[in-house]
Amino acid sequence: MSADCLFCKIAAREIPATLVHETDRVVAFRDISPQAPVHVVVIPKEHHADLSALTAADPALAGELLAAVAHVARAEDLEHGFRTVFNTGADGGQTVFHVHAHLLGGRGLAWPPG
Ligand code: 5GP
Ligand code: ZN
Repeated sequence: MSADCLFCKIAAREIPATLVHETDRVVAFRDISPQAPVHVVVIPKEHHADLSALTAADPALAGELLAAVAHVARAEDLEHGFRTVFNTGADGGQTVFHVHAHLLGGRGLAWPPG
């Protein structure tokens, strides 16, 4: 656990969130500011700052993260499709520096995003 990391605290249940899925290494919860009817954040419980750090340290965990995204998409009935986003670094719009996948769905999503 990284001190003062919001998502480490959610994984540790120190800050409440609406959990929708959990495995021994991954947890998924609803985004506090949803950008689509379904907006779930999927994180490894272990702290890695971003996608680059995660894949360098533990590519198998990155695979578990993606499997959890697919699991939640099925559970949320997103059979018409969904979008998965990893914001990375300042230019990528990352604001919480604990790697996470955004799972967005429940409506048609424009591409490129507006
Ligand atoms: P980023 O901009 O780093 O890719 O995404 C961070 C996400 O975390 C944002 O979509 C933001 O709404 C969400 N978020 C920030 N604080 C909280 C919180 O306390 N609880 C939950 N559930 N989501 C949060
Ligand atoms: Zn963390």
